[in-house]
Formats: sequence, C-alpha cells, structure tokens
Amino acid sequence: MSTDSIQRDTLEVDILCVGAGVASLATALRLLRRCDENKFEKPSIMVIEKGAQVGAHILSGAVLDPTPLLDLLTAEERAAMPVQSLVKEETVCRLTATGSLRVPWVPAAMCAHGLPIISLSQFVRWLGGLADGAGAEIYTDMPAAELLWEGDRVAGVRLRDRGTDKHGQRRTQFEPGADIRAKVVVLGEGAAGYLTDKLVERKKMSADRNHQAYALGIKEIFEVPADPDRVGHILHTFGYPLDSHTYGGGFVYRFSPTRVAVGLVTALDYKPADLNTHDMFRAFKAHPLIAREIEGGQVAAYGAKLLPEGGYFAIPELATDGALIVGDAGGLLDSVRLKGIHMALYSGMAAGDALWECWQKKDWSAAALKQYPARLHQTKGWKDLHNIRNVRASFKFGTLPGVVATGLSVMTGGILPPGRVRRDPDYAGMIPSGSARKLPVPPKANSSKQQVDLLTDLFHSGTKHEENQPSHLRILDPNLCRQCKAEYDAPCTRFCPAQVYEWDEADQKIRVSFTNCLHCKTCQVKNPKRNIEWTPPEGGGGPAYRDM
Ligand code: SF4
Repeated sequence: MSTDSIQRDTLEVDILCVGAGVASLATALRLLRRCDENKFEKPSIMVIEKGAQVGAHILSGAVLDPTPLLDLLTAEERAAMPVQSLVKEETVCRLTATGSLRVPWVPAAMCAHGLPIISLSQFVRWLGGLADGAGAEIYTDMPAAELLWEGDRVAGVRLRDRGTDKHGQRRTQFEPGADIRAKVVVLGEGAAGYLTDKLVERKKMSADRNHQAYALGIKEIFEVPADPDRVGHILHTFGYPLDSHTYGGGFVYRFSPTRVAVGLVTALDYKPADLNTHDMFRAFKAHPLIAREIEGGQVAAYGAKLLPEGGYFAIPELATDGALIVGDAGGLLDSVRLKGIHMALYSGMAAGDALWECWQKKDWSAAALKQYPARLHQTKGWKDLHNIRNVRASFKFGTLPGVVATGLSVMTGGILPPGRVRRDPDYAGMIPSGSARKLPVPPKANSSKQQVDLLTDLFHSGTKHEENQPSHLRILDPNLCRQCKAEYDAPCTRFCPAQVYEWDEADQKIRVSFTNCLHCKTCQVKNPKRNIEWTPPEGGGGPAYRDM
C-alpha cells in the first residue's frame, strides 16, 4: 500500500471504474442491470473521469457497430440513442499525390452500410446518463494519480492532489487527493492509460506479448454549405499522404447536411523523424478528392487521439488480483474494421457479467475475476480479433505485404499468415532528420479557411489547463533531449498534434507548453529516447470535445 505524510480522505466502494468511457460505463450498466433483473441488492459503483464533463476527452471516427447494444440496452433505449445519420453510401479510394483510384468494391470487413454515424462524446454522455439512472455514481474532474496496493493486490486508487503550484509548492487552496478503496478497480482509461501501464508493468501482464502498435488519429469537423443529399456518405482512403511503409489512412464522414468529419490516422511506427503529423493532415485535406468534400467550409472542432491497433497478440492479460482492464486500455480494437467502440462494449459487458458473478458469490479472488477474459473470449468481437491476429504486424513489411496478409487472414480465418508475426516498439528505428524521402508539403497554414494552423485548431479543441500547476509532461533527462535534438532534430516538436514542445535554441532545451496538451499520449509512445512521461494533470484540464 502507498503511504505518504498527507492526511487524506478515504472512501470505500465496491467497484471503482477509472475513466468514464464506453467500456467503463458498459461495465457499470451491465452489472447494475443484472442486479435489477434478479432483484438483487446493488453494489456501490463509482466512475471517476479526469475531464470536466463526461465525454469531454472522448474522440472517435465514429461509425458504430451496434451489435453488442442488442444485449445491453432495451429496444426503447436503442431507439433513443443519439445518432447523427446512417451510412448511406461508402467508398474506399487509394490516393496518389494528385489522383485517386476507387476500389471497385468495399471489402466485406469494412462494409458499414446502414450503420449509425455517431458523435462518440455525445454517445458517452448519453450512456453515462443510463449508468447514472441505474445507480452508478459518476464524478468528473477526478484524475487518478496512482494505484493503491495491498501486497500484490490492487486495492483502489489515489486521486491527484489539487492546488500545487508550478514549482511543486502547496497553494492555500491545496486539496489532497482522496484514496478510493474498492474490491475491484476497472481500468477504462483509454489507450496507453497511465495506471494501466503501471499495472501491466508491475504485474508483467504483457510478458511475451507483441509491443502494442499505436496510431495517432487527428480529426477536424467542418461546417460546410448545406447538401442534404450527401448525408450518410462516408469515404475511407489509403495511400497519400502516407508512404508505402506507413500504415494508416484517412476518412471523411458527412454526418449532417452541414457538417463533415475529416480525419487522418497515422501509425506511430512511421520512420522519418521529419514527419509532422499536423502537416500530414493538412496535406491530406489539400488532396483534390478531400478538398472537394470541405470546399467552402470552415473548421468547427479539432481533436486528436491514440488508437491501439496491435490486436490479438498485443493484448495484455486483462484481469489480475483486484483489477480488470477494459476497452482501448486493453488494446481492444479491430484494425481491419477500423472499429473499437463495439469492442469497448463487448469488454464492458463481459466485465459487468463477471463482476455480477463475483458480487453474488462475494468472491473477489483473482480466479473469479478471470471470468472476465473468459467471457470476452466468447464474443464475436474477440473471435474477429483472433481471425486477424497477424494483420497489423504484417504491415511492418510494407503496404503490399500487409494487404496480402489481410486478404489471407480474412479468407482463412487467421490461419494464414501462420504463427505469430512479431514487431518492434513504435519508437524504434526512427530515421534521422534529413535522411528519409521527401515528405508531402501541405499548403501554407491559414492560406484558406480549410487549412488553419495548429494553434487555431487547438482553439477549436477547447483544451485548457490551470497554468499554475506542475507540468504533467515530465522530461526525464534534459541531456537525452539534447542527444535527441542532435540525432533527430527534436521530433516531439513535430509528432505532437498540439504544439506542446518547442526547441529553445538559446537555452538548448525543450520548452513544454503543457496547457496545450490534448492528452493523446503520442509523446510517451513515440519519443525515441524514452524520455517523456505523460502523467495526469489536475482535474478538469484537457480538451473539451462535444460533437467529436
Ligand atoms: Fe499528445 Fe503529448 Fe502532445 Fe499532449 S504533449 S498533445 S499527450 S503528444
């Protein structure tokens, strides 16, 4: 158990969910509904969220596979679900620098016809309302700072202190973070979760798994001239501006007569140190096919998030003594279908069912908690992940071998490619600045309403943090920064989608504008010297996504 000299409040609950995302909320809702159905006393369930509101830190594409909802919600609830539109027409195109080639058919795995296009932040707020109505207590502005331990068992979490100044001194309004003790902590923090990473490392839950493969998704929502006929059109692209060694692609979703979502997903095992993620996004928007979609429009919202794409072989153990890992935090995302929300639902429901068994029997042992992964393994979503188990790792050989591996996997149910394809971590093998191929050059920033600069985009993300607090982005060794500058010309100044990092030539060090941070965690994953640690800032800090 963690100890310190500060007097802290202690709260006790039965189940504590960290992060009010889809997976956590589905866990809480499922467990509470099981109690209702069986007229059983309910456990106390607390959900804590670091954002200022539920959904404030939630961002996604998002075309939803609603299959798991058939088993989670009533027909009336499903009918009331906030949907922006249904997919009416879908296109897949390969882009070159100036042209495009339409794929004659949409691969069955990607087929989304008739599926709902949703705003995930809106969907999560709605799901939070259902969980709240069922009896969960949801608190925002509450970042979890560390796990509490009893021996080798997770026993709860400690909330982050509030009211420390930027030098680390306590201000008059200092409030120590409370300890929340629970029978089970459900970690649904999203990709590269702070507590999840600590847990996985301490309990060696990723031993002999593949390194997780992350991607950065950057997205803007445009207000465009009204065109009701195009509502429900979605476009997926691959190729330009990414090269044949970089996994990823773009999307354009027309989800209302006047709104269109445009995004680019770039795998973080890209090699050129010179790659600038926001420049790549702007080059994507400048492509004639994409530029047509946003012509006459202007940016209304902006955001960025990390996607865990490594799949089956990169998923850590999901249950341990006192804790479960659900959703993106566990790497549960289908990279062929480009979908993770349905996996978050499947995992939340499996976790909820396992906890229901534990609750009835009052058995919170590690063996009882292992029912969660056992139940998850029975779901269609898990079987799909198994069937594409070598797909993402095969893209390390290039786009063509990756596409062939995808085809073989889909045709053989994952039998081919055989065995297990391993991969290096995303930060490995970066090609020093100036030595890689020439990267696409986007139009000048602010040359049009569609090509805004990064700071304008940041304004549209609504991100903000209390300035008088210690930076939540820790540079572990300034000397390593200087080495990184010499070898790679400070790539953090280019991969961060929020202009947090700038090289200070006079002082020969990295300046960190942490108040810009979008909490995407790209810096932690991609910095080649393992020299940046993302930690939770004071509660309420970060983006304020609404329609994303
Ligand atoms: Fe993402 Fe790190 Fe930049 Fe924050 S500082 S926006 S976590 S890359």
